[in-house]
Amino acid sequence: MKRIYLETYGCQMNEADSELIAGVLEAAGLEIVERPEDADVLLLNTCAVRAHAEQRVLGRITELGRFKARRPELLVGVTGCMAHHLRGRLLDHAHTLDFVVGPDGYRDLPALLERAAHEPVAVVRPDRDETYGDLEPRRAPGVRAWVTVQRGCDKFCSYCVVPYTRGRSRSLPLADVLREVRRSVADGCREVILLGQTVNSWHDGDHDFADLLRAARDVAGLLRLRYISPHPTHVDERLIEVMAEGGPLCPQLHLPLQSASDRILEAMGRGCTLAQYGDVIARLRAAVPALALSTDIIVGFPGETAEDFQQTADFLRTTRFDSAFLFKYSARPDTRAFGLEETVPEVEKSRRLALLIGLQHAISGAMNDAWIGREVEALVEGPARRNPAQLYGRTAQFKAVVFPADGTPAGTLRRLRVTGATTMTLVAAPV
Ligand code: SF4
Repeated sequence: MKRIYLETYGCQMNEADSELIAGVLEAAGLEIVERPEDADVLLLNTCAVRAHAEQRVLGRITELGRFKARRPELLVGVTGCMAHHLRGRLLDHAHTLDFVVGPDGYRDLPALLERAAHEPVAVVRPDRDETYGDLEPRRAPGVRAWVTVQRGCDKFCSYCVVPYTRGRSRSLPLADVLREVRRSVADGCREVILLGQTVNSWHDGDHDFADLLRAARDVAGLLRLRYISPHPTHVDERLIEVMAEGGPLCPQLHLPLQSASDRILEAMGRGCTLAQYGDVIARLRAAVPALALSTDIIVGFPGETAEDFQQTADFLRTTRFDSAFLFKYSARPDTRAFGLEETVPEVEKSRRLALLIGLQHAISGAMNDAWIGREVEALVEGPARRNPAQLYGRTAQFKAVVFPADGTPAGTLRRLRVTGATTMTLVAAPV
């Protein structure tokens, strides 16, 4: 029996794919091990979205090359988005890499590993029909499960590799998603996060995303439901209506913006103006008053002027997101923006990024301070990492909260009163 060591890089989508890969391999009788020393196969499940993640993986491949020199029988391979880029290197790095398998090749991994023992294997072509809807991922134990409902993307934002590496958008059938939600709950999960690259574009031919949310929300035993990442152009009245109904569907949304300059949004190919984005936020906030909002911003996109950047900073200041993931633009091969002249020097990108980090830090701190004195309900996850005398959980707004350990079991809801706050965490006491 082959033993597999699996290492995951990148976003939550990739984490969910690693659970899928582990499920496929275990179903074929292979064993997942915790340490590379115990493995016959080292598998890196990779991300190509940012240059930094890719550099880390390349460094890791070099390291594993040394590891393999001591154990030549070891198989080393790459799955995920980087498989696409690494295909050409497979033969150059034959002494290290035995296989590269893209995001649509996981179903055949057991057979591909057999083949890789004899010859280099490259399977990177996107498959428009592959959803893995019938496969069972192997989930890590915990109160939260990530359930993939949609794979790939049709948006082709000019900076993004996803449509090339993960292929075109396709939705899992409603029945497959519900089966997975029920299975997660039966396994002890109490919170489900529905996952997709543009998750709210989900449509299975008969049902839209609002239907999916209502059906998932009603699964017995599920306490909380969330979804990530929606695209602003697919936030319609039906979605806002179901958000307003509340229940297990949480008042929290991560809605990527990327830039608050219409000129840059256009160059990014986001398909959405700032006014449209602002309108979506206003309607959501009116319908769901307790809504916590977060976003993604890219600074230093080619052509971003000081004025464009200022518009983004001003928008963050006035919109007051609970949190924001802030990144410097990094050109990715194969994307439409790759050929654009980089007009913002690295040092200026860093300056803009630092400015936004400082600004958002202050806003996040103030947003969390506003919870002091209020009651919240936390889904308890277990002991706090830094202080085992405290329990850790998340509020409906997905804010981390710690409180004195009082024996509340993981997976249950606990009412708390917030007594203090930092930028990242609420501090509370049981009520
Ligand atoms: S919506 Fe744009 S940024 Fe998001 S995955 Fe699709 S192409 Fe990439």
